[in-house]
Amino acid sequence: MKIIDMRSDTVTNPTDKMRKAMFEAAVGDDVYGDDPTVKKLEELAAKAVGKEAALFVPSGTFGNQLAVFTHTNRGDEVIINEGNHIFQHEVGAASVISNVQLRIMQGKNGMLYPDQVKKAIRQEDIHFPNTGLICLENAHSCGAIVPLDNMSDIFDIARENNIPVHLDGARIFDAAVELGVDASEIAKYSDSVMYCLSKGLCAPVGSILAGSKEFISKALKNRKLMGGGMRQVGILAAAGIVALEDMVSELKKSHDNAKYLADKLSEIEGITVFYDRIDINMVFFTISQDVIEEDTLIKALKEQNIKMNGMDNGEYRLATHYYIEKEDIDNVVEVINNAINRG
Ligand SMILES: *Cc1c(COP(=O)(O)O)cnc(C)c1O
Repeated sequence: MKIIDMRSDTVTNPTDKMRKAMFEAAVGDDVYGDDPTVKKLEELAAKAVGKEAALFVPSGTFGNQLAVFTHTNRGDEVIINEGNHIFQHEVGAASVISNVQLRIMQGKNGMLYPDQVKKAIRQEDIHFPNTGLICLENAHSCGAIVPLDNMSDIFDIARENNIPVHLDGARIFDAAVELGVDASEIAKYSDSVMYCLSKGLCAPVGSILAGSKEFISKALKNRKLMGGGMRQVGILAAAGIVALEDMVSELKKSHDNAKYLADKLSEIEGITVFYDRIDINMVFFTISQDVIEEDTLIKALKEQNIKMNGMDNGEYRLATHYYIEKEDIDNVVEVINNAINRG
């Protein structure tokens, strides 16, 4: 029986085409710059977001932290939305690796507000840290796409103040496909961008950090410092090439399925779907404690071979992806409905 795994889009196994590409990949020692498959991926990857150069890195967290480390100096302050992955889900790495402090800003669905950012930028004063970086995230991990005019406003302010902007674009292609624009139209409001090959694009491992040639050559050395110099890593880059060439066009299906799932879930009494942030492949919702307890629900799903995470910050999340079909969603909704009505 098929296991329906909706914990995340990271659970996507490599496709058959990826496995074949990995098997056949030409490789070399990438620390010596000898791996032709990595070179090819990095070229494609830079182009895909309209940047001069790119680096293959082991994970999204690695790419984000490498960017923060490369842009900032010790003691700098980094302006970031309260919900961003770099602040919430990277184990406090920015303080450990880069010795920076994060300046947390509130803002709906991943936005930074221009007026607040202007106020937060530090002027020269003997008491103040230096504002070293502004971090954006799009698509945002709350499920929403940040409007491009908002990104543009923040980027203008950053430019006026000579502050670099890093974009956490783990799901940038989801945002691009949904907005009907090229990913470079999103990444142009940043100096560096990280994106994941290993989420909805189904590659087994790896992310990309892209930016100017100068930035990437600095990041190359910092990647080595962080232990991310990898050897015959063309084995993994081969899957990344398939991800970029074949899988971006598959993302729309997962978005349509997420909206279908949201509509089905919201018909169930006691479930509240957050409709203001179903822009990509994730549905966030709450279930009233009166209708079912968290443990009971997760267990009921597990018994039917359905995997879902417990609540995070009081919310459930179901993620659709390449391997989730419409029938799977019907199945999941039915199991949730039955569990609620039994309990
Ligand atoms: C998943 C994710 C990351 C980190 O990627 P890992 O490969 O899991 O380290 C960073 N930012 C966002 C927005 C993400 O969703």
